[in-house]
Amino acid sequence: MKHLKDSYKHKGKRKMLITKLKEMGIVDDAILQAFDAVPRHYFLDLVFEAQAYQNMAFQIGSGQTISHPYTVAFQTQLLELEKGMKVLEIGTGSGFQTCILCKLGAKVFSIERHKELHKKAKAMIDYFKFSARLFFGDGYKGNKTYGPYDRILVTCGAPEVPAELLTQLKNGGIIVIPVGAGKEQKMIKLKKDSEGKISEEDFGTFKFVPMLERKVN
Ligand code: SAH
Repeated sequence: MKHLKDSYKHKGKRKMLITKLKEMGIVDDAILQAFDAVPRHYFLDLVFEAQAYQNMAFQIGSGQTISHPYTVAFQTQLLELEKGMKVLEIGTGSGFQTCILCKLGAKVFSIERHKELHKKAKAMIDYFKFSARLFFGDGYKGNKTYGPYDRILVTCGAPEVPAELLTQLKNGGIIVIPVGAGKEQKMIKLKKDSEGKISEEDFGTFKFVPMLERKVN
C-alpha cells in the first residue's frame, strides 16, 4: 500500500468538498462528518491525488471507478442508516463507500467481483481498523450466511433488481440500487414494509459501471 499522509492541504480541500456536498443537498451531519473522517485521497492512485476532493469519478483499476463523492453521499443518505444496522454492499470497489458506512456505525458486509480490487479494499479496511467483512464473489447472489440485512446498497448499475437481494432484505428494510441496462440508471429506493410489501421511489438519473455476473480472478 502507498504511504498514506493527510496534509493540511488535503484537509482544507476536504472541507471545501463537504461545503459543496451541503450545497448539493446532503443535509445529514453524520454523513458530512464521515466524509471528513475518511480521507478520499487514500483510495486513489497518486496521479489523481491532487484532484481527490473534486466531485469526480476516477479509475481504480480492473476497468472500474470510484463513485463521485456526491453519489456516495446521496446513496448513503437514501439508506436512512441507524447505528448497528446490518448493511450488505454490492460493489466494494475502492472500499471508500464501505468505510463511510463503517464510520456511520453500520455492520458492513461488502462483495466485490474483481479479486484485485477486493484485496486492495481489504487493505484499506484493515488500515482504518474497521470491522467490515469483505467478500470476493458475485453480488447477484448476495450473502445468505450473514443475512437478512437491514439495508442493501448496490454501487453498480443493475439491469433490474436482483430477486435474491430482495429475499435477503429484512421486513422494514431498504435497498438503494441504480437500475438500468444502458449507460444511465435510475436511482431506486425500495422499501419492504412490515408485511413484506415492496414500494419503490425514483431519485433521478446517475451513471454507474455495470453490475456483471461471475467473479474475475
Ligand atoms: N463504492 C465503490 C464503487 C465502485 S464501482 C467505490 O466508491 O469505490 C462498482 C463496483 O461494483 C466495481 O468495483 C465492480 O467491479 C463491482 N461489481 C460489478 N458487478 C458486481 C457483482 N455482480 N458483484 C460484486 N461486485 C460487482
